[in-house]
Amino acid sequence: MLPSLFISHGSPMLALTRTPAHDFLRQLGRTLRPAAVVVISAHWASRQLMVSTSERPETIHDFGGFPRELFECQYPAPGEPELANRLARELDAMPVERGLDHGAWVPLSLMYPAADVPVVSLSLPTGWSNAELATLGERLAVLREENILVVGSGSLTHDLRSIDAIEAPVPDWVSTFADWVHERLISDDRDALLDWQKAPQALANHPTPEHFQPLLVAMGAGGRAERRHHSVEHGVLTMDLYAFT
Ligand code: ZN
Repeated sequence: MLPSLFISHGSPMLALTRTPAHDFLRQLGRTLRPAAVVVISAHWASRQLMVSTSERPETIHDFGGFPRELFECQYPAPGEPELANRLARELDAMPVERGLDHGAWVPLSLMYPAADVPVVSLSLPTGWSNAELATLGERLAVLREENILVVGSGSLTHDLRSIDAIEAPVPDWVSTFADWVHERLISDDRDALLDWQKAPQALANHPTPEHFQPLLVAMGAGGRAERRHHSVEHGVLTMDLYAFT
């Protein structure tokens, strides 16, 4: 049975820049071949839960100030309307046409560069509690038995105000929070994780919650956590990837 994944997608430049996280995602895709991916990304927030039924989701370049090369990236993975409509019914999600935001296409373009694995996007409903997001994950867990990969795409730490050079040292307040999360994940302390805003330096690393929340969905969808990758880019973007097996 497939694990569910939490992927830290970092900067959109991850698509083009050879870093340890970039190389890891390329290698991961060679060992994990699902029939489809259901992704919930920090970059599609909506009031209510939505699901994209697009047959050919466009590549959304939802960022600014990056080189033209990045805006020219296209990720033509197909959608899977049948799966999307099923999720709409089962999760009471609103079906809409929507492309792939960079939280979805950047890591998936590294894992599946041939764009041959269909992708269905779910939105991140703003205003849902941590427990409700984990419960959403629990309802997605059944997909893992159908060889469908459930991915939460965010960032373990994400204070964009403090972005530094790509290989900058990691400030203590970043590693303090990342270590706290890691300890709670590997000891399966879900109660603590559902109260993550109370962790040391939580709000410094997540001035807004949307990059942490996909972790709760991935956690709900899977079992024990294993850290498959650890690195930090720009001092404050922890690129860790967790598999929930
Ligand atoms: Zn992001």
